[in-house]
Amino acid sequence: MVSIGSGIGAKLFLNSVPVLGVSFDAGELGHVKWSSLPDAPMCDCGEIGHIGAYASGRGAASLVQAQANKDPLGFAASRLAGTAIHTMDIAQAFIKGDPWTTNCVEASIIPLAAGLAATRSIVGVERYIVIGGFALAVGTTYTSLLARKCNEHYNWPGWNTAFEMSYADDDNGLVGAGRYGEDRRNA
Ligand SMILES: [Zn+2]
Repeated sequence: MVSIGSGIGAKLFLNSVPVLGVSFDAGELGHVKWSSLPDAPMCDCGEIGHIGAYASGRGAASLVQAQANKDPLGFAASRLAGTAIHTMDIAQAFIKGDPWTTNCVEASIIPLAAGLAATRSIVGVERYIVIGGFALAVGTTYTSLLARKCNEHYNWPGWNTAFEMSYADDDNGLVGAGRYGEDRRNA
């Protein structure tokens, strides 16, 4: 399960049971460091260059802002011109196929694709369920792009069908926690 919203989360499930590790802390893909360069973006946790600082909704927005500063003409010609560059403005421009915005989103998901490709190569994960507000807003166009970027990191013919969107509401985490609690109670 991959959560792409204001941050990035990921959890491995085996037969519906989350794999948490001996320390019960597994699932922090968003806080894996991607870049140590001084101009790397700041993560919500206060460190720089984490995967979540690139690929989350907030990460995409800060990357778009930085790119708009570097390429004001390209930005002015894009669908984002005149918007406040909120996450939902980016999602709208992206699903309408704006090339400038698509390039930014593509750049933002490279670190996430590298992380997911590692899960496929190391433990053989073949099914990725995507939740989170940003992912739901950008939809299957986004997961197709993510699949393509994953394949660039780890060549596997199954990427095209590996990603599944969750129910399109904001309750996935709550429903999952409820079901997990119920399973534990019955165990
Ligand atoms: Zn972090």
